[in-house]
Amino acid sequence: MINQQDYRGIYIHIPFCKAKCNYCDFYSVPLTAADWLEKYTRGLAAEIEQRASSYDGQPIHTVYFGGGTPSLLTPAQIERLLTKLDQAFGLNSHMEITMEANPATIDFKYLRGCRLAGINRLSLGVQSFVDRELRLLGRLHSAQDSEKAVRDAYAAGFHNINLDLIYGIPGQTISDWVFNLRQAMALDPQHLSLYLLQLEPYTPLGRRVEAGQLYMLEDEQEYQLYRTSQELLAQKGYQQYEISNFAVPGWECQHNLLYWDSREYIGLGAGAVSFINRVRFRNTNLLDRYLQAGAGYPLGFWQGEILEKMTEDQRWIDAVVLGLRTTRGINLTDFNKRFGVDLEQVYSGVIHELVTGGFMMISDGYLRLAPSAYFISNQVLGRFIQ
Ligand code: SF4
Repeated sequence: MINQQDYRGIYIHIPFCKAKCNYCDFYSVPLTAADWLEKYTRGLAAEIEQRASSYDGQPIHTVYFGGGTPSLLTPAQIERLLTKLDQAFGLNSHMEITMEANPATIDFKYLRGCRLAGINRLSLGVQSFVDRELRLLGRLHSAQDSEKAVRDAYAAGFHNINLDLIYGIPGQTISDWVFNLRQAMALDPQHLSLYLLQLEPYTPLGRRVEAGQLYMLEDEQEYQLYRTSQELLAQKGYQQYEISNFAVPGWECQHNLLYWDSREYIGLGAGAVSFINRVRFRNTNLLDRYLQAGAGYPLGFWQGEILEKMTEDQRWIDAVVLGLRTTRGINLTDFNKRFGVDLEQVYSGVIHELVTGGFMMISDGYLRLAPSAYFISNQVLGRFIQ
């Protein structure tokens, strides 16, 4: 996974949604004015131009439209942004260009337009195939809408489709979850991302849990759902390549692999985070700065705050924690070449303890988590930061 050539990914944040879901704590706002999308697209184009003017020329590997709900953009707006990105940073016709899409906002015609505009990977926010769960989550679509969205996507020419599913929803049983997985697999997506529901107390669902109206599952129940996913998906030929991600071999998400390989990325749009030259910074989330179409864009209008300036040591520690999220793990020789650090030596005590405890393994020159540690990866990986 690690090689010596440097490259970057581009992430474009579209911070609008039709309505806020009950569990959501992402940076997104309800789309309340029809002209916001056009104004925001112009703002993004201005940011792309400004940032390209001082770009160091490192090649771009992937593009990812995330949100929010990027599928609120029109195909024409997507095409304009991709053209702009190509002029500014240089894209190529083989690279993975992903768009997240909400089944509530798309149909065949729309998807065909997106495909023609240059999107070649679709990530559908299905979340569940059980309508009761979808209502609890506050999603605007039904299970049937999701099934139709996948069929439309295939018909529109997409051959690289991810479905996002959430597990650990209050009241969810093993058989509910198995039903979800079977429905998902029946649609033959190339990729599945399975996320454990995490609730912030200020979200509507979080408040209901705080008030004792709903109960989160016990850790053991959540673990059983996770194990069930691993078993069922493996039987169907999906390979787990990261703690939450499964793919038909060859269809792993290149953009996410870039994050786990600790590569740098350019985040564009309100609230987007970039990681460039060891500095992690976040764009302004003051939407007005992007919506000031026609007023001219002051230089640096997109700038927000610096989150972190990494030292050399922080840089490679970050790479350890990210790389160990993949099931393949970290190639120790490549890591040493890239960062000049012998992990077996630096972490000899921690690695010995974790390997002896059955949480990690070293084989074929790779350091990796043991499969039984995936579900408790945060605790295990925390040992590399102390
Ligand atoms: S669609 Fe996604 S980003 Fe938008 S509110 Fe729902 S969970 Fe949040």
